[in-house]
Amino acid sequence: MIQGIFWILIYLLLVSAPLIILLIGEVPEGREFWRELSVALGFAGLAMMSLQFVLTARFKAIKAPYGADIVYHFHRQVSLVGFGLIVTHPLLLFVFSPDTLALLNLFSAPWRARAGVSAVLMLMALLAMSLWRKRFKIEYTTWRIWHGVLAVMVVALAVVHVVLARHYLNTPWKQGLWIAYGVFWVGLLFYVRVLKPLQLLRRPYQVDSVTPERGNAWSLTVTPIGHQGMHFQPGQFAWITVWNSPFSEAEHPFSFSSSANYPEKLTFTIKELGDFTREIKKLQPGQKVYVDGPFGHFSVDRHVHAEQFVFIAGGVGITPIMSMIRTLAERGEQRPLTLFYSNKDWESVIFREEIEHLKGALNLKVVHVLEKPPTEWDGERGYLSQAILEQHLPEAKKRNTLEVFICGPQPMLNAVEQALVNLRVPFGDFHSERFDLV
Ligand SMILES: Cc1cc2nc3c(=O)[nH]c(=O)nc-3n(C[C@H](O)[C@H](O)[C@H](O)COP(=O)(O)OP(=O)(O)OC[C@H]3O[C@@H](n4cnc5c(N)ncnc54)[C@H](O)[C@@H]3O)c2cc1C
Repeated sequence: MIQGIFWILIYLLLVSAPLIILLIGEVPEGREFWRELSVALGFAGLAMMSLQFVLTARFKAIKAPYGADIVYHFHRQVSLVGFGLIVTHPLLLFVFSPDTLALLNLFSAPWRARAGVSAVLMLMALLAMSLWRKRFKIEYTTWRIWHGVLAVMVVALAVVHVVLARHYLNTPWKQGLWIAYGVFWVGLLFYVRVLKPLQLLRRPYQVDSVTPERGNAWSLTVTPIGHQGMHFQPGQFAWITVWNSPFSEAEHPFSFSSSANYPEKLTFTIKELGDFTREIKKLQPGQKVYVDGPFGHFSVDRHVHAEQFVFIAGGVGITPIMSMIRTLAERGEQRPLTLFYSNKDWESVIFREEIEHLKGALNLKVVHVLEKPPTEWDGERGYLSQAILEQHLPEAKKRNTLEVFICGPQPMLNAVEQALVNLRVPFGDFHSERFDLV
């Protein structure tokens, strides 16, 4: 919690720093209130946009207190706030000083305005591509490349706009501040695009086996080449690159499904869904794989004092939960565990036999919920509902002793989270892993 608060304070400080620093020392003569407000909003918006790079640079220290999905969620939401501040900057000018509308003409406007207008247009394209990627049918990797290119262009053009406008940059050290910001961004890009891939290149893995699972999924096991492998907490995930070098954009996130006790043998269980996941079965033993991780805070190891654990999985959402159950079994876990596992039909229940076997090794109750059960089925049917949860969860007064882990399709996560709130499971005691980052 202390780490979490620390990073929030640093964030607020960095967003407001340009404003505070520009008002220190020799300040240009004051202008109308709305004009000063407009400039202040522009500076704050630019600081926010530039910090977006830090949020997605996969610094483990920043992600650790919140978890990767929360940081990406924040990245998404704060981009809307930053956009609001940035567009309000010219809008205030246009409203209170209509002659500034002429600056929109890119052919006749001065360079500072050309840079500013281009930055805002590119920011609009960036947001539209992100908000409506699926509606526009933009393939993920294409989106990711354009997202990076546009983001760099937006911030670079905005800095050019600030430097050319010169107001509030009337002393060399204030100009130096923005140049330092620029150097920082270039350094960050260098880290993400060059240093990080080089690190991954030096710690390669190779395919050990690819085995079929139920539910159109494959378990890919990789072993380290010339190093010790990767220590992770059960439930965490990593980014995987195959058929490409770590310098490419073609990496995909997958949860570890193996026990955390074996850092030298990592398994990911991957469901065939699209271009990349459909090719997994073609991997050959010995083929090189790069693994960037571990990431995420979706782990029983972060809640060691819980009296019991509840796992709620939908389809391939079982993978991080399987890693936790396998690890707990090997550690000789005694606490009660309950697994709610939702699937379309009995044949597609990934790890079905192993889960049955683990019931013997653990104090584990399993509640299968099937959309299309076989005729002789006497278990739960349909979608996982509040009524099913209520029936199998511990009695109400014990619900504040649970830690609940949920992973599955987005609609299921939303419904289950709401049901848990209704069933009075304390808000901080359930944790969701979302497989859909964008
Ligand atoms: C934290 C996390 C853990 C995951 N764990 C697993 C797992 O254990 N098993 C499993 O089968 N799936 C897992 N996924 C989902 C998996 O990453 C996607 O299904 C896979 O990347 C789809 O790629 P595709 O090219 O086959 O499909 P596509 O049809 O190209 O993509 C389907 C959807 O997957 C997402 N996606 C595609 N490419 C990427 C990418 N490079 N990075 C991020 N998202 C992408 C996009 O939302 C896209 O719309 C996880 C996702 C996340 C975020």
